[in-house]
Amino acid sequence: MATAAVQAQSAPTHVDVLIVGAGVSGIGSAYHLQDQCPDKSYVVLERMDTFGGTWETHKYPGVRSDSDLYTFGYRFKPWVGTPIASAQAILDYMGEVINENGIAPHIRYGHTITRCAWDSKANLWTVEATRKSDGASVTFTANFLWMCQGYYDHEKPFVPNWPGMERYKGLFVHAQLWDPKIDYKGKRILVIGSGATAATVIPEFAKDAAHVTMLQRSPTYFFCAENKNELADRLREVGIDEPTVHRVVRAQIMYDQDQMTKRCIEEPDAVFEDLKALIRAFTGKEDFPFEPHFTPKYRPWQQRLAFCPEGDIFRAAVDGKLTVVTDTLDTFTETGVRTASGEEIEADIIVAATGFNLLMMGGIPFEVDGKPVDWHDTVNYRGMMFTGVPNMLWVMGYFRASWTLRVDMLGDFVCNLLKHMDARGAKRVDVALRDEDKDMPLSDWIENDNFNPSYLMRGLKLMPRRGDKPEWRHNQDYWIERDQIPHIDLDASEFVYDGVRAGAKVAEPA
Ligand SMILES: Cc1cc2nc3c(=O)[nH]c(=O)nc-3n(C[C@H](O)[C@H](O)[C@H](O)COP(=O)(O)OP(=O)(O)OC[C@H]3O[C@@H](n4cnc5c(N)ncnc54)[C@H](O)[C@@H]3O)c2cc1C
Repeated sequence: MATAAVQAQSAPTHVDVLIVGAGVSGIGSAYHLQDQCPDKSYVVLERMDTFGGTWETHKYPGVRSDSDLYTFGYRFKPWVGTPIASAQAILDYMGEVINENGIAPHIRYGHTITRCAWDSKANLWTVEATRKSDGASVTFTANFLWMCQGYYDHEKPFVPNWPGMERYKGLFVHAQLWDPKIDYKGKRILVIGSGATAATVIPEFAKDAAHVTMLQRSPTYFFCAENKNELADRLREVGIDEPTVHRVVRAQIMYDQDQMTKRCIEEPDAVFEDLKALIRAFTGKEDFPFEPHFTPKYRPWQQRLAFCPEGDIFRAAVDGKLTVVTDTLDTFTETGVRTASGEEIEADIIVAATGFNLLMMGGIPFEVDGKPVDWHDTVNYRGMMFTGVPNMLWVMGYFRASWTLRVDMLGDFVCNLLKHMDARGAKRVDVALRDEDKDMPLSDWIENDNFNPSYLMRGLKLMPRRGDKPEWRHNQDYWIERDQIPHIDLDASEFVYDGVRAGAKVAEPA
């Protein structure tokens, strides 16, 4: 690590490509860039002191993936562990990617980007960062900006403004800020929320706490399964090599997920019955009571299905270690909370599993030729580029499929785009609405009935807008994009190179 840091400091401050963030998106993008465009110089700037992003930030008990790692892992590095992996296992995997591919010398840790400014005269991004080690302000210039800063605020999670919080005498903590030193053994814990974080943390708490209560405003869908992949186990048993296991099992999981997504839309009630059958099987309770705590109001897949390895959260409920309350929080009290229906819940520790605050482009102020960028004024091109902001791409992954599938896909796209620019001799690329898009209605980033978790709905006004054509929306559908993105015509007329619309006739030099 020390060698990497020294090498990193001696690298030039001008780079062809500047990658923001060393989470799964940034590390995957760095891999693709050096693999597919080995002649491009690049640097990764990362605010934290290490890589991992989300998997480094979150420290609550049991923190793990919700997706299987055959698809959450990169396509270029086989996953060999259990499908659902701990944060530490994901960090180990990322560390191997960094070491095996010589990525470390390109990463500058402890660099918080404070400003990104595009200059059309120089066709350059200027990126300013504060270096944590000495507080110095450092400047980089780059031809292309690859934004891998994620989508939420790592430092300030979402805590609703509940009345009476100041009265509570116990320990209140948001799951995102959980300190592993907190001792919860023998304590009464109240978890507020019912999404993936609550589903992860509750079974862990239940092992050692005196009792756990989950207070939810509304129920969530849970998908219970064993944490193993039978096909992978069988392929290994018969001696198939790991790269083949990875490829085949990825294909199998993606196929199954596609079928599941279609079923959720076409026959949501039948899917719910299947989910209930799994809960009955894992708890061994044929009469498991689903009303009122486990009957959601939305369709399965409008929000992420919360994964439950071996039905653990339901087993905690059946064993009497977990009580579920479905109600609105009215106020905090000195000893816990009171709900709208008057129920008092006493707790020594209250854990808010209430989600994120969306943070557009890591909260970094952007300028184009001296004018601040308001992202809501821009229109997104397939959820990755933005009108009026040249030479820049954002890796926003999938919500219903593994995020990383898009990291690989956009890695190919950026590398093709950079090669295409070189072939054209272009220094600048923009996406721009075409004549045919002139009267296109523009709306918020995503339709409410497509995917509607609260953090996204709260943050829509911060996000770029969308049109009603495939080019101008992020459809969040891996299975459609898998057929479209690799075949994008980089000379289609939504691309503008050095101010000249692609496809337009370029005047011959006199
Ligand atoms: C607890 C949890 C579990 C999840 N589980 C899954 C899952 O199972 N499957 C799935 O598909 N998705 C999951 N997600 C979504 C998850 O965020 C993504 O899958 C993925 O890890 C995001 O990676 P990223 O690299 O794009 O962003 P992040 O992980 O957010 O990393 C961004 C990095 O950019 C850095 N950065 C940000 N701003 C700046 C700045 N101004 N200057 C310098 N550096 C900056 C950050 O420090 C961070 O290291 C989960 C999210 C959470 C919170």
